[in-house]
Amino acid sequence: MARSDHPQHLSSSLTPETLAVAAGRPDRTPDSPLNVPITPASTYVAGGSLEYGRYGNPTWEAFEDVVGALEGGRAVMYASGLAAAAAVLSLVPSGRAVVVPRHAYNGTVALLRDAARRGHLEVREVDVTQPRALVDAADDAAMVWIESPTNPALEVVDVAETAAAARTRGALVVVDNTFATPLVQQPLALGADVVVHSATKLLAGHSDALAGVAVAADDATYELLETYRRLHGATPGALEAYLATRGLRTLAVRFERAQDNARRLVERLAAHPEVADVRYPGFGTVLTFEPVGGGVAAHRVTTASRLVVCATSLGGVETTWERRRRWEGEPHTIPEGLVRVSVGIEGFADLWADVEQALAHA
Ligand SMILES: *Cc1c(COP(=O)(O)O)cnc(C)c1O
Repeated sequence: MARSDHPQHLSSSLTPETLAVAAGRPDRTPDSPLNVPITPASTYVAGGSLEYGRYGNPTWEAFEDVVGALEGGRAVMYASGLAAAAAVLSLVPSGRAVVVPRHAYNGTVALLRDAARRGHLEVREVDVTQPRALVDAADDAAMVWIESPTNPALEVVDVAETAAAARTRGALVVVDNTFATPLVQQPLALGADVVVHSATKLLAGHSDALAGVAVAADDATYELLETYRRLHGATPGALEAYLATRGLRTLAVRFERAQDNARRLVERLAAHPEVADVRYPGFGTVLTFEPVGGGVAAHRVTTASRLVVCATSLGGVETTWERRRRWEGEPHTIPEGLVRVSVGIEGFADLWADVEQALAHA
């Protein structure tokens, strides 16, 4: 299949909603399928551009073409979001510093701390509720890692402002765009060098595939990210690539519907007597709340739901929730009773009825 940064037949002025549907399709020749098929292959007949299964796969390429079109760069697909993060962190020269929000995804922070413990790099964890915290820590740093909104504190930073300031200090700017998605925020257009996603979440959207992707603004960075995929062997399966692409086609409708449910849930929760604190950045499909009764009440509520699934992860069509501090690795600055809710696309009346009955167990 022909590869290009931006599918040749598509205009670059298309909206994200349209690109999600139209990018990454096979050429329009008679009898060609509308979707790039699943290609399970560990090796290919020699002499072409693919050669071996760890180097490339047409089904990955379809996903990469869609995400690349949506984010405005060149995408590399990985086996998971954390595999994408690991590849991006491999861009950091030995011994140099990485600035990261203390409430970035806990796997990302764990990866950075492990690298720091082994002397590979220095990690500077900052509180992004303080203005310019990322920028103030960026002197001599090789990379500024932005996650906005953060998971699960839902803190938001100004990506354009942070990227501009970090770049004048010579740092590579990376944005984990998992929560916002390119529908809300396109970090490369805001000055970032690399975008990372856990495609496991909203991009794939159906809780049935682990996948990650990194998108580079320039060719040199793209080549490195592709090289690290080969060297680390962090390759997705062809089935996962197919599922992720298929999920991505409906990103806009899923996102709009789930966001609408999330906004309504925020209003209802904020008015509920058992609920102390509701956090929501004003957009997106994830919110948090704390029951008045703290950690014990949060445990009771999240295990009393019948429709809402008590489960980790987020971004699927079904609403899930969990008490985040049930995880050892969760920072202790996250309250004991904080419940993270990933809002799905169910009918709102059913959703609220279940949340309300669960809150009665607080
Ligand atoms: C889940 C998540 C990751 C890690 O992705 P996996 O696909 O689970 O490896 C990274 N960043 C954020 C913001 C996430 O929510």
